[in-house]
Amino acid sequence: MQVNSGTLRPLIDVPPSEVLAFLVRHGGKASHLKETYGGLFQRRVLDCDDLPQLPRELREALAQTYTLHPLNLRRTDRSDIDGTMRYFFRARDGKEISAVYLPEPKRLSLCISSQVGCAYACSFCASGLVRFDRQLSAAEIIDQILLIARDQKRSPTNILFMGMGEPLANYTEVVSAIRWMTAMPGLNLGPSRISLSTSGLVPQVIRLADEGVRVRLAISLHAARDEMRLKIMPVSGRFGVREVTQAARYYSEKAKMAVMFEYILLDGVNDNLADAGLLAELLEGFDCRVNLIPYNPVPGLPFQAPAPERILRFQRCLTERGVLVFIRKPKGSDIGSACGQLG
Ligand code: SAH
Repeated sequence: MQVNSGTLRPLIDVPPSEVLAFLVRHGGKASHLKETYGGLFQRRVLDCDDLPQLPRELREALAQTYTLHPLNLRRTDRSDIDGTMRYFFRARDGKEISAVYLPEPKRLSLCISSQVGCAYACSFCASGLVRFDRQLSAAEIIDQILLIARDQKRSPTNILFMGMGEPLANYTEVVSAIRWMTAMPGLNLGPSRISLSTSGLVPQVIRLADEGVRVRLAISLHAARDEMRLKIMPVSGRFGVREVTQAARYYSEKAKMAVMFEYILLDGVNDNLADAGLLAELLEGFDCRVNLIPYNPVPGLPFQAPAPERILRFQRCLTERGVLVFIRKPKGSDIGSACGQLG
């Protein structure tokens, strides 16, 4: 059937009650709604023609009003090192976004984007080099997952909001996408399987906690003192290290979940033992873990990752002070898919 999908509303961006009303107006019933979402989420169909339980007129009416997929899969790159894949999508207005497929023996994580570009301009991040363009809708966020799952013929076990963009600067659409991830109809994932990484937008962290959104929160701290954080993350001008940490504590207590702090290691910048000491002090008595992320190279940026001994020394200093700390291994660095490389 020939339709111009560019003018159609993505089904996921429409409240189910409205879709149901639409179906009823066209002679359908509640079971047709279930069949539609089931086709999209379980069978990952590409278009309304693949919903055989729906009468033909209903399929046609749906197809002329809604689109199941607001994104087009353009191409993929596969890492020779670890099987990580980068997926390139194009939205209907021509904007390009990408997501990363991260297979592991016991789980399958997908790292997805929440915005086109990013307004936060962290000095070490490729996404920060691309100026902010627009928000992604909930349907565009979910579609990255649906199209990868369809391509891989596998459902993800974990979702990471760690691709391009600052998820909490797109609060409404991101929370709506999280609802589709955790609900039925939807992806039916436990909220603790969703990790959301933020540069530390304090009001939105509090709002997440108050609204009962129980995802795993990751805070890109990257420095334990304001002066340093401000040098590498302009957002620190609005929210200081203490304020960000306090918001994280609030979230952790409300959600009854440990928070993760991400700390990028930039050689000779924020990786000395004095900084490790300050970080340990800041996190004392806090149910949290630290993920150290050795800097992944971004063309044109002046940083380097510390030598392995220096990384281990930083980790040891934290461990000795009782902080639970891990070192994040880069994935897909040969295809520009490791943390901070999605530009
Ligand atoms: N905007 C969100 C998501 C960013 S991506 C945030 O700021 O948290 C996920 C993580 O990768 C963040 O902790 C981010 O700071 C980190 N990152 C960015 N650039 C990096 C680089 N070049 N090397 C390693 N990690 C990087």
